[in-house]
This record gives sequence, structure tokens and C-alpha cells, in this order.
Amino acid sequence: MIPYARQAISEKDIVAVEKILRSDWLTQGPAIEQFEKSVADYCNAQYAVAICNASSALHLACLALEVGPGDRVWTAANTFSASANCALHCGATVDFVDIDSRTYNMCPEALEKKLVSAKKQGTLPKVVIPVHFSGQPCDMQAIHQLAQDYSFSIIEDASHAIGAHYQETKIGDCRYSDITVFSFHPVKLITTGEGGMLLTQHAELSKKLHLLRSHGITRNNQQMHNTSAGPWYYEQVALGYNYRMTDIQAALGISQLGQLDQFIEKRREVVAKYHAALNSLPLVLPWQDPKGQSAWHLYVVQIEEPHQRATIFQQLRAADIHVNVHYIPVYRHPFYQKLGFQSGYCPVAENYYERAISLPLYYHLRHEEQAFVIATLQQLLK
Ligand SMILES: *Cc1c(COP(=O)(O)O)cnc(C)c1O
Repeated sequence: MIPYARQAISEKDIVAVEKILRSDWLTQGPAIEQFEKSVADYCNAQYAVAICNASSALHLACLALEVGPGDRVWTAANTFSASANCALHCGATVDFVDIDSRTYNMCPEALEKKLVSAKKQGTLPKVVIPVHFSGQPCDMQAIHQLAQDYSFSIIEDASHAIGAHYQETKIGDCRYSDITVFSFHPVKLITTGEGGMLLTQHAELSKKLHLLRSHGITRNNQQMHNTSAGPWYYEQVALGYNYRMTDIQAALGISQLGQLDQFIEKRREVVAKYHAALNSLPLVLPWQDPKGQSAWHLYVVQIEEPHQRATIFQQLRAADIHVNVHYIPVYRHPFYQKLGFQSGYCPVAENYYERAISLPLYYHLRHEEQAFVIATLQQLLK
């Protein structure tokens, strides 16, 4: 079977994890801080907070920005449910912005149109969560300008985009946002098994995120309400969670981060081969917005004739090529339909969804395997 995505674990990774298993700390030890510092340095961010997974990181990001009942959070229609669920976990309501037909990311014009009408109705969002779909950065400067004009905060869901660039800098530097979230799930660019990271340039947000990650408990005198009663003393000063990452995961993360640029380089080579081989077929190939450089988490092709998508998908699966579809627009899920969203709500995202297939793209995809994927597609589409 050729999967659509797969982790790349090296001997070095295994040695790094083994070293932790033989050490004194399995969780919340020195590897966590080292991993946080490595990611912060890599992205040029001031603060980084490691979390058990990106879904929990998105939840904490909303909480740190004080999202609660009565508030509104908007995200892109073309994303994984977690980008929207985080708002509901805070008791807020969620709404969806349609995508751009070329980048498949939140469309700044659609966002602006929605903001204009929300302003009239007094229903402006508190937070907007753009998603860097497939690793391609959103038009953050445009979204940031709207954030200034309509005063909302921005959380970048960069689950697909560690190592991507927007303009001249790396995603994660929060140049146009309050908080950025990465995922280290095995299908993503680097992995910790399960894992996520929050990045921010704001000391206050970083403090809140650290507190919320671990029960709302502090051992820092400056955050305590009373004077410390002794070395055993700690205080719970907020209602937090246990959203910690283990040192076992962090050690894997540090080792993986050291290979990220090499991973992306290889992904670019695979992408270049797909581009060259597939551009004469009746497919819409991924478009690279010149404002950025994708990290190439996914390689999505659109079948020109949407009625053929299901057949082609099934034939690829039958050939043991485990293609996938990213994404069913979030509001089309029964849970969201029950909240009142109708099919057809974001027509560009729906049109895209009807045609999309994600082809295999990962570090260890062998030349012969990719050649087989290409030959199978050529056969099916000729
Ligand atoms: C994978 C993913 C998440 C959730 O990440 P986990 O680490 O699995 O919780 C959130 N948003 C997007 C866009 C994702 O692809």
C-alpha cells in the first residue's frame, strides 16, 4: 500500500527517544524546554509552548484570547474539524469563510464581505483562524489588515505549515497574528507521535498558555496570590487542563526538527515530478502563490469532471494507492448541520471538495512508487 502521507523515523530519532527512556524525566522535563526553544528559534518567535496535540493547542489559543460564551470565531470552510471545534469548546459560536479558488485558503475578499455585513448586524468575530491549507500560507498581510480594521485577533492554524514561508519569513514568527499552532501528528511534516506547539511574540499570552497547559497551576512566586509557604507550595490560579507533551515526544520532536529542511527539500522534488508528469492530464494542479513558499504537506489535484472523482478515487484505492480527500467542508458534517449550517454555504469550498484528491506525498516515497501513481493516473484519465 502507498499511503497519502507517512512519517519518516530515522535511527537518530530512535536513539534520541531511547535516551529519554533511560533518563530521570519522562514528562515536562528538560527536553520540553529544549524542543520549545528549538522551534521558537527555527521560526524566529519569542515564545513557544509544547502541547499534547494541535487540537488542544487550538483550544488553549482560544482560551488565552479570552474566547467564551457570546463570542464568535470564524475559520476557513476547507479544514479539519479541530480548527472549528476549539471555538465550541470555549462556549463560543463558530462560522465559516469561503476559500480562494486557487490557493484553497481562506479568501480575504470573502472575509471582508462577511465582516462588512457582520459589522452592520453587530456580529463581528472576536477571533479569526486562517488555516495554511496543504502548507501554502494564507494571505496573512491582507487578513491582518482586516484584523486592524475590524478589531479581531488571529490564530494561524499552521498544522500543515511548519517550514513554510510567507513573504520573506517563516510561518510561526506570528508577524501577522497573535498565536500560531503547529501539529506533529504522524501525517504532518514532522512528528512527535501526537503533539502540537503554540508560538507567540507576546509575553502575556505565553504566560497564560503555560498556565492553562498544566491545570492552571503555578510555582512561580510572581504569579501566586499568597506568599509561598515553603518549597512544596504551589497555587492553582486558573482553571487549566493537562495538555502537556511528554519528554519522550519532545526528544523525538527535536530530532525531527533537525531534519525538517531536508524533509521539505525532498517534498519539493516529489512535487516537481508530479507537476511535470501530470500537467497534460485533465487535472487542476496545485498553484503556488508567489507571496509564499509552501511546506508541501499535501499534493491535491482536482479532477476537472467532478462526476469522475469517486470512480478515480476508488480505482486508485483498488490499485493500492491510498489517496485521500482534504477536506469535506466542516459545516457539512452532521454535527454542524444540526447547528443550522446548510449545504452550499461556501460554494467555492464545495466546488473544490467535489473534485479534490490528495496524492501520496512523503519523505520516503520511492521513485518507483511515485512513477506507479503517475502511470495509474495517466491510465485512468486518458
Ligand atoms: C491535523 C490538524 C489539526 C489537529 O492536529 P492534531 O495534532 O491531530 O490535534 C488541526 N488543524 C488542521 C488543519 C490539521 O490538519
